[in-house]
Amino acid sequence: RSIATVISGSKTSKVVRDRLRAEVERMRSQVFGFRPSLVVLQVGDRDDSNLYISTKLKAAAEIGIDAKLTRLPNTATQDEVLQSVMAVNEDPSVHGLIVQLPLDSVNHIVTEQITNAISPEKDVDGLSFINAGKLSRGDLKDCFIPCTPNGCMELIRQTGVTVAGKHAVVIGRSKIVGAPMHDLLLWNHATVTTCHSKTPDLPQQVGRADILVVGAGRAEMVRGEWVKEGAVVIDCGINHVSDETKASGKRVVGDVHYSSANQRAGFITPVPGGVGPMTVAMLMENTVQSAQRFLLKMAAR
Ligand code: NDP
Repeated sequence: RSIATVISGSKTSKVVRDRLRAEVERMRSQVFGFRPSLVVLQVGDRDDSNLYISTKLKAAAEIGIDAKLTRLPNTATQDEVLQSVMAVNEDPSVHGLIVQLPLDSVNHIVTEQITNAISPEKDVDGLSFINAGKLSRGDLKDCFIPCTPNGCMELIRQTGVTVAGKHAVVIGRSKIVGAPMHDLLLWNHATVTTCHSKTPDLPQQVGRADILVVGAGRAEMVRGEWVKEGAVVIDCGINHVSDETKASGKRVVGDVHYSSANQRAGFITPVPGGVGPMTVAMLMENTVQSAQRFLLKMAAR
């Protein structure tokens, strides 16, 4: 049999970003000087966070979204972080707020209390209880869907494979990847199995998947032999492994063993260039959507 068709997140994300740029221009011509606006709140100074944030700010600038970084020092307390969140909640000129995770503070901060303090109308990462609850109940039109699963769904749509009635398997149940991915597949009418670290027979579960989404954070854990012939394989993993042949001494791999999985899958996402760029595009999409809702509310007044 032939090897899998590659689903390019780089290409798909460009289509999304071009569409958003046109949409922002249209908004600006309707309401003079208007720009969707996004605040990224960072605590501390992690290298990986800095990289992710600069990618987000760059994507926003290209689309015409006014994105700002608010950075608190790693000595910030929970109350100080909460105060920053509240200040953005109350600022009518801001339409989206994300807190870059993980929080990097010497103080004990309960991440969930911070993400849950974000006003649901500005919670473009979709991590507050309200948005997560709406998604889990299938209220998809009225919530912000977390960006990584939303991007995965967009890539699945790209394949032309119908989700309704299929058996989908998700590996991972985190708040930002696995759990919302489960909900999204379920309400797109797949029958969903969610696996985690206590699932006894992962290869067997994977073998039942017409659609497989992996977010486990384990380098190349899913082997090609496990994959059902013709399945759609979406790999969220970003893992750094050492590679002597690279100048940097390392390279990035997914949670799926690509070169064996692409021998059996029908469609597969590469790493890098798969889910990663889609996550950023979906953040932009949610921000533009939030700004649109804001404009509609203004017009209704
Ligand atoms: P977490 O560590 O929060 O969650 C990992 C999940 O995988 C947990 O539910 C865990 O189970 C499960 N898991 C871990 N090991 C196994 C195993 N051996 N078998 C079955 N399940 C297992 O990670 P995230 O959800 O935050 O991220 C997952 C991956 O996605 C990472 O590689 C991360 O880098 C990547 N990522 C990519 C993004 C992108 O933009 N492309 C954005 C966010 C994340 P349990 O609950 O039992 O512990």
